[in-house]
Amino acid sequence: MSWQDDDETMPCPYCRRAIHEDSVRCPHCENYLSEEDAPSRRSWWFLICALLCLLVALGWALQKL
Ligand SMILES: [Zn+2]
Repeated sequence: MSWQDDDETMPCPYCRRAIHEDSVRCPHCENYLSEEDAPSRRSWWFLICALLCLLVALGWALQKL
């Protein structure tokens, strides 16, 4: 284990080889690493939070009736 332990590397989502975190394109398989292609956990959580807020707001609104 040498350069793969570096914190600034991550596995390429396409070929699983270690690439630099800031890479725009994988130097091994030449795939572009756009954020849209990457699994976006943030937007998933945002959706859950939005749904929870909606439920809370609905419950609050129903209590007022
Ligand atoms: Zn790759």
